[in-house]
Amino acid sequence: MTQSNGRRLPVRDDILRLRPYRSARDEFSGTARIFLDANENPLGSAGGGALNRYPDPAAAKLKEAAARLLKVRPEQLFTGNGSDEIIDLLFRVCCRPGYDKAAMITPSYGMYRVCADIAGVETVEIPLNSEFDLDLELTSRILAANPEIRLLFLCSPNNPSGNLLCRDKVLSLAASFNGITAVDEAYIDFAADPGLADCPEKYPRLVIIRTFSKAWGLAAIRLGLAIADPDLIRILNKVKLPYNINGLTAQAALRAVGRAADKETFVRTIVAERQRLARELEQLDAVVRVMPSDANFLLVRMSSARSAYEQLLAAGIVVRDRSNLPGCEECLRISVGTPAQNRRLTAALKTAGENP
Ligand SMILES: *Cc1c(COP(=O)(O)O)cnc(C)c1O
Repeated sequence: MTQSNGRRLPVRDDILRLRPYRSARDEFSGTARIFLDANENPLGSAGGGALNRYPDPAAAKLKEAAARLLKVRPEQLFTGNGSDEIIDLLFRVCCRPGYDKAAMITPSYGMYRVCADIAGVETVEIPLNSEFDLDLELTSRILAANPEIRLLFLCSPNNPSGNLLCRDKVLSLAASFNGITAVDEAYIDFAADPGLADCPEKYPRLVIIRTFSKAWGLAAIRLGLAIADPDLIRILNKVKLPYNINGLTAQAALRAVGRAADKETFVRTIVAERQRLARELEQLDAVVRVMPSDANFLLVRMSSARSAYEQLLAAGIVVRDRSNLPGCEECLRISVGTPAQNRRLTAALKTAGENP
């Protein structure tokens, strides 16, 4: 039986009992000279490149490298086909469709809601306060009123508001909530805060989600990480598709982790540019307010989001109109670009102010 600090993990009973598929690479992982166990092509790969063998289903080398980087143990790590796969798996592992519910902050990343909907799991939205931070009292009240909630999704720094959630509030929820608390830290590299990677050690129902899609500049390889209690990691491993991390992705990620200084340089450049861009935007007539950001984007309240969006589009610049999310009235979400791109952006918005 799966135990965490003496308590059973709050996941579906049938998933706890599930006997997972065992692939050829699970059954035999020692050293042999001739592999005739997986019906692979022994001759090579069409188009070249040694890609004819199935990849390691445990992505062990990648986890060792990532664990060193994050200062956690490899058995605390799960690797997913993007963090999107991790988000999807958490809803399916924690919540029985039709019985259990999942809660998520609002406004936040749209994938949480979509994954819950696809899994047939009813959702409860928890509004953030006017500063886009957690309202601890309201959150606790909603959780207490809905004992069916088994999974709570938080995002810090939050998309689309850009701010970190208060660390003490997050940890207080992780301690008091008896379901799984997931904190999506896709943007944590851009924040002046190390994030919560070290916390699952003390909070066995806490899952931290990271991605290679943003600061690392590797959105195309589709790689996300979950940091959690090893018991929960084992459950995620049982449920995932056997070869969810393909060989090319593992190669590219290992290369990147070996060059973590590249990522640090990206982050420094983008954070400096974020600050510069925020100051420039604040000067513009079309801009009402630039929200404080700990991420690689800015949430900007415009006098009219719609006309600003169209003006930008006419200049060949596409941003995200987030006006219809709660608390984001007349807001555009603008990714920080290169210095040249950001100059084009502010120039296009300046013209917008001049045309009545
Ligand atoms: C961009 C983003 C991700 C990244 O998802 P991947 O599937 O890893 O590319 C995760 N969470 C949030 C909130 C994001 O904005």
